[in-house]
Amino acid sequence: MGKAEEIGKKALKLYKSLTDEHSIADESGVIKRLGQDWVALGLKYYPYQIMKLMSDISSEEVAAEGMYQFGYKCGKEICSRYISLGKEGRAAIEFTCAGATYFGWGAIEIIEFTEERGVARVYNSFEARSYFANNKRKSSVPQCNFFRGVMAGVGHTYWNREAKAKELKCIAMGDKYCEVEAVAV
Ligand SMILES: [Zn+2]
Repeated sequence: MGKAEEIGKKALKLYKSLTDEHSIADESGVIKRLGQDWVALGLKYYPYQIMKLMSDISSEEVAAEGMYQFGYKCGKEICSRYISLGKEGRAAIEFTCAGATYFGWGAIEIIEFTEERGVARVYNSFEARSYFANNKRKSSVPQCNFFRGVMAGVGHTYWNREAKAKELKCIAMGDKYCEVEAVAV
């Protein structure tokens, strides 16, 4: 047993006194899924509190744009990875959505995905839940900038051209679901 496992085993045993839930990480303090490394962050902190800090340092618009661009990059890479696994076209989009559910981003329903427009609804958006983990009142602006970017990135990969996306409805604003529209540009 390595040093990490030795320390981790004690830590998980201590934590057992707090909860019966299975630990997300293994005894060495590492989360592995689909052959990759991950980290779990509480929605109390992520992404809302990082967005708040970025807003305080710059502006709400810059923070939103930063998260959107991050999502765009992730959406492109994730969708491309499914294509490299042999999931072509629409299947790559469906696997991207299924992966989002698998990792707790929310439950995603594709409403349409044509040659230049895609619309998706997100139930239980993690970004909207993060907002409400820090606020009692509804937001006056949509909160799901990461997912908006992911949709644009997925569109970019599917259409093989630049895309942009906007959030039309958001749970954080009181809607039943979030709705994002991506278009080719
Ligand atoms: Zn939203």
